[in-house]
Amino acid sequence: MQVALDPRHTRVRSKLRILHNPRSPIEAEALHLNGELLELEKVTLDKVDLKRGAFHVSDTELVVHKVPDRPFTLELTTFVDPEANMALQGLYRSRGIYCTQCEAQGFRRITYFLDRPDVLARYTVRLEADIDEAPVLLSNGNLIERGVLDRGKRAYAVWKDPFPKPSYLFAMVGGDLAPIASTFKTMSGREVDLRIYVEHGKEARAHWAMDALKRAMRWDEQRFGREYDLDQFNIVAVNDFNMGAMENKGLNIFNDRLILASSETATDSVFEAIESVVAHEYFHNWTGNRITCRDWFQLCLKEGLTVYRDQEFSGDERSRTVQRIADVRQLKALQFPEDAGPLAHPVRPETYIEINNFYTSTVYEKSAELVRMIATILGREAFRAGMDLYFERHDGQAATVEDFVACFEQAGGRDLKQFMTWYKQAGTPHLVCAFRYDKVARAAVLQVDQVLPATPSDTKKKPLHIPMRIGLVGHNGHDLELRLDNGEVIRDGVLHITQRSQTYRFAGLPTRPVPSLLRGFSAPVNLSIDLPDRDLEFLLAADSDLFNRWQAANTYATRTLLQIVQALSAGKRSQRGSTYARALQANLLDRTLEPAYRAEMLKLPSQSDIARELAQNVDPALIHRAHRQLTRLLANTIGGTLESLYSEMDVGGGYSPDAASAGRRALRNAVLTVLSARGSAADIDRLAAHYSSATNMTDQAHALILLCQSPSAETERAVASFYEQWKSDHLVIDTWFAAQAQSPHNSTVARVLELTKHPLYAMTTPNKVRALIGTFALANPVQFNRPDGAGYELVADQVLALNAINPQVAARILGSFRSWRALEPGRRRLAKKALQKICRQPGLSRDVFEIVTKMLEG
Ligand SMILES: [Zn+2]
Repeated sequence: MQVALDPRHTRVRSKLRILHNPRSPIEAEALHLNGELLELEKVTLDKVDLKRGAFHVSDTELVVHKVPDRPFTLELTTFVDPEANMALQGLYRSRGIYCTQCEAQGFRRITYFLDRPDVLARYTVRLEADIDEAPVLLSNGNLIERGVLDRGKRAYAVWKDPFPKPSYLFAMVGGDLAPIASTFKTMSGREVDLRIYVEHGKEARAHWAMDALKRAMRWDEQRFGREYDLDQFNIVAVNDFNMGAMENKGLNIFNDRLILASSETATDSVFEAIESVVAHEYFHNWTGNRITCRDWFQLCLKEGLTVYRDQEFSGDERSRTVQRIADVRQLKALQFPEDAGPLAHPVRPETYIEINNFYTSTVYEKSAELVRMIATILGREAFRAGMDLYFERHDGQAATVEDFVACFEQAGGRDLKQFMTWYKQAGTPHLVCAFRYDKVARAAVLQVDQVLPATPSDTKKKPLHIPMRIGLVGHNGHDLELRLDNGEVIRDGVLHITQRSQTYRFAGLPTRPVPSLLRGFSAPVNLSIDLPDRDLEFLLAADSDLFNRWQAANTYATRTLLQIVQALSAGKRSQRGSTYARALQANLLDRTLEPAYRAEMLKLPSQSDIARELAQNVDPALIHRAHRQLTRLLANTIGGTLESLYSEMDVGGGYSPDAASAGRRALRNAVLTVLSARGSAADIDRLAAHYSSATNMTDQAHALILLCQSPSAETERAVASFYEQWKSDHLVIDTWFAAQAQSPHNSTVARVLELTKHPLYAMTTPNKVRALIGTFALANPVQFNRPDGAGYELVADQVLALNAINPQVAARILGSFRSWRALEPGRRRLAKKALQKICRQPGLSRDVFEIVTKMLEG
């Protein structure tokens, strides 16, 4: 390819060497190439210019009517307009930087091509641009030549990628960027040149990302035996980006909020996200790039596996238990509602209108859980052997989920036929468990029923193979041997649930144990078991499995919140929660537990967790009141403990993003959240002081968000001072938009509308839209679900405005309506009205059309 970059008129000359697939049964004379929004100048076949009648151009393709049966060369000259590209797919400009996004189907907006993932080709790319505008020119692979032209006025660079790749992994970048550089020596001793390109002046903020990259490269060698394969690895950070980042071969392109970080500008969770996303995109080099997907239905093949790998990396780098808790929280917050609503789809969907709508939590997070279950079923060694076989057998290929699973069947010697149903069946299974102890027989009986709720496209579900890790905890806190009454001992603690109903009888138990079920969240299911409160208190104090100890706390809190909601809706006051508070207190004071873990213990289930538990007739305002009530009760019951923790966790000294210091800050901020809900003068003073004395963004942003929760004079002061301090930083100011958008106060809708007109807000920048509209729609359940419908109207109007600019982002925001059918009748009617308004709008994009029609049908 030869590309001459120009803001309004970029010329792309591509030369394709094509031969008819000898294995294809189709004897076609015509060649159909995908292409959108292109201006075609010339088509040449084997050096002969084609006349107008020899080809045909439509809005979506170029058809060359007659091509030879032998290999031939097709040369195309097209023009594109990067400046006008607001959808941010294909080639576009962000803050003066040319960059590309080709996954899933953006390459067809750069040139005509067989734009599908199973067409692998080797690319050589020559880029050219005005040197003032784009002295840095990058593409995939290795740099083989660079120089200047026109007496130093223009720059050029030639990149060659030796690895065949699908077009969605193509990338190019041109701009005036500043690099930071480092090197990495691979396990076989090759030296790789590493660079991260950022805006001038932001170099110092890229070092954490570089550090994470090197740790990820080492980890993949040690854990999976995977070595990097090119001489160069480049990362570029741009501000306008539809997603988090993109794994283009050798040239990853990132949303700059996932590269740039310093203690003053980024929170601990941003540092953590950078580490995880840099690793994720790097890991794609093997799981996605070297082995790619045969078609877009197999998207989960690369994403689920790579999410699993980045979760494992973060667990090894930080705390495995805390990481698991965070991953499970995320899964339940995003994927479980998806599975329970009109947008439910299998991990491997069978149909789509717009593939961009399937970059979902189901395809990413749930499919990572499927990989994790395979690892649980096989055990660590056999799982690694299966991965090795997958890399060996499919390197250089476009593979399928069946290919992947077959490697584990072979390496682990296990039949995974029933397990494959997980890929084909939507919906979250429900395990209904019953436990009883028989004192005379010294035996315990566990009955497990699989309930498989219907989803819109599919009402008849097959039973799944569900690995359920369990423990039976004895009165002294020790795990008891899992001996079945037939003499079999379950040494790995994993029960294989494969039928609709199964009963396990455990023998040799002189006293009643307490069951600890689904340890480590061994399967993505809802679990219910009717245990008395005292069993939860016992597990909370004594379960050796720390994940399940947290789960016990979470279940206990959920139970308490549901009781409060029930009391409130009956017009009563509920005093519940003090036994829960005291059970929690012992864990908060336990210094053998890491602070990050204790912080997770203290965080109540979210308001959407409670809405999900209720499942119908949901009144978000009532849930919000219950949530506040329990938080206040915690502060009143164990306030002394919390106040002393607040002082004890004051890290002091310089900032470090490491997991241990971040954990102390997390616990201190979680304590601050609870104490601030009490709302005494001393609590407000503490919060205001937390804001004004903050020496890092973690503390500053947390205090700002809390201040916005209950507006006061302090709130307005903090909002104004934050703005003054950060108005010139296009990333940090997003926190300012987001903090205001998530206030549960009644003035928020008006405030958000006003902020859409703010000079620093831009509907063309996805980060801004996500910070303001996304936060309002997805993280402000009370105001989004206002009883007068003003929240729905606001979001619907924004979706319609975005539809014309960036359909992909519009469809994402629209996803906030996914649980509308679970609402109480008044809100349900208003949400439906807002959705119908969107649906009626002429000129809807494919993206928005698909989501809105599914929402209304499902
Ligand atoms: Zn990915």
